[in-house]
Amino acid sequence: MIEIQNVSKWYGQFPVLADCTTQVGRGDVMVICGPSGSGKSTLIKTVNGLEPFQQGTIVVDGTPVGAPETDLPKLRARIGMVFQNFELFPHLSVSDNLTLGQCKVLGRTRDEATARGLHYLDRVGLSGQQDKYPHQLSGGQQQRVAIARALAMDPVALLFDEPTSALDPEMVGEVLDVMTGLAQDGMTMMVVTHEMGFARRVANRVLFMDGGRILEDCSKDEFFGTPRSDRARDFLARII
Ligand code: ATP
Ligand code: MG
Repeated sequence: MIEIQNVSKWYGQFPVLADCTTQVGRGDVMVICGPSGSGKSTLIKTVNGLEPFQQGTIVVDGTPVGAPETDLPKLRARIGMVFQNFELFPHLSVSDNLTLGQCKVLGRTRDEATARGLHYLDRVGLSGQQDKYPHQLSGGQQQRVAIARALAMDPVALLFDEPTSALDPEMVGEVLDVMTGLAQDGMTMMVVTHEMGFARRVANRVLFMDGGRILEDCSKDEFFGTPRSDRARDFLARII
């Protein structure tokens, strides 16, 4: 589904991704963790073409990312991304947030896009909220709208970059519950998160990064049971 092969990226002389290789299969839920600055955000953004890279290849569902002939807006529609800060359009209602991309990128009619948007709004537990504006919603609700908006594009995979780290603690659970439901329904997901409880419950794979390198790429049980690298052991000792 997602094939990342020998990907490297530098800012000037500074390597942010160093020869990263991994594969995400259909239905996999991969949690990506590691210290601040280790390249987690950069790695997942390369997958939907938000970050260019200088070496290696990434192929998503048969489409090479970064090839000149690739239609990036189309590709991004098929790989939804959910960010830390929700990134809803503040001047648009929930309904318009849900429909804009469907109409613009996928060419759906307004009626069709609205119907799908409302379907996914219901799915994230927010039916009836379509006429509100983002500032009228809590952080947890905004993040669930962002997830509904991504789902309405019929993505083949979803990327999450610390989706709960800007939320008040009491709202973390409602977002993780939605993500858990998606995982159980077989959605392919790459999730950068420090929520190790979520990783233990929901992930099947864990990637541990440090200094732009993938130091561990293993099953959840291996990662939490017997991490191979000292860096991962130290990280787990600090975070759990
Ligand atoms: P965090 O946990 O803090 O979100 P991260 O693992 O997501 O960290 P990245 O945001 O991917 O890390 O950054 C990786 C490295 O790239 C960091 O050292 C960062 O300082 C560097 N970096 C990111 N963007 C730029 C840029 N535009 N120019 C130069 N260096 C950058
Ligand atoms: Mg980051």
